[in-house]
Amino acid sequence: MNIILLGFPGSGKGTQAELLKQRYGFMHVSTGDLIRHEIAAGTLLGKKIELLISQGNLASDEDTVNLLVNAIKHRDNDIVFDGFPRTTAQAEVLDRYLKQHGKKVDEVVLLSTREDLILKRLTSRRVCASCGGIYNTYSPDYKEICVKCGGRLTIRPDDTLESAKHRLEVFKKETQPLISYYQQSAGFKKVDGGGSPEEVFGEVVKALGLKK
Ligand code: ADP
Ligand code: ZN
Repeated sequence: MNIILLGFPGSGKGTQAELLKQRYGFMHVSTGDLIRHEIAAGTLLGKKIELLISQGNLASDEDTVNLLVNAIKHRDNDIVFDGFPRTTAQAEVLDRYLKQHGKKVDEVVLLSTREDLILKRLTSRRVCASCGGIYNTYSPDYKEICVKCGGRLTIRPDDTLESAKHRLEVFKKETQPLISYYQQSAGFKKVDGGGSPEEVFGEVVKALGLKK
């Protein structure tokens, strides 16, 4: 079963995808993580897109698709797509790619969240420099270090208020149309993304019909 998680930046796609990976064995593919990896590794591609991304703009469809296809070339089933597709062009490429491999997008889960909550979440997000764990400074059990691995918590360069606001605008323009693109498909589900990670996960599991 291949799943796309759709939703505003900061709607919790990464957190839910990680839970699906840990508890149900899905492969979690985040194009945001793939891009950040290129930047951290200082590759040619990373250098080309670094500024663009930190300002909250999208990478090109071509660069993103190349990274994605490379990441899933050894596996084309039981994947959770997080942050991909983000444009209609990317959605069409993904459909074609999976079809060529006799697979398809089975489920699309829209994590619906209010905009004011999104900005609060993005600007208070912290990411573990070692394991990528995601935290929020306002959550009741927040610690200054990663509770999973003891790693240092960092602020993503694109989580400044200015960049976060811009990402919301980019989402509305480029990614919102995808909701209508997928809404007609049988696997489309809308889940309230406003609760705690575990609450939302309960809804996601129910929507996908996964065994508890
Ligand atoms: P968020 O969902 O919180 O915005 P991501 O980690 O998914 O964060 O993505 C971070 C950034 O990486 C995006 O703002 C964008 O610049 C870039 N990016 C991620 N996925 C794509 C994509 N599919 N197409 C183009 N750019 C992307
Ligand atoms: Zn960690």
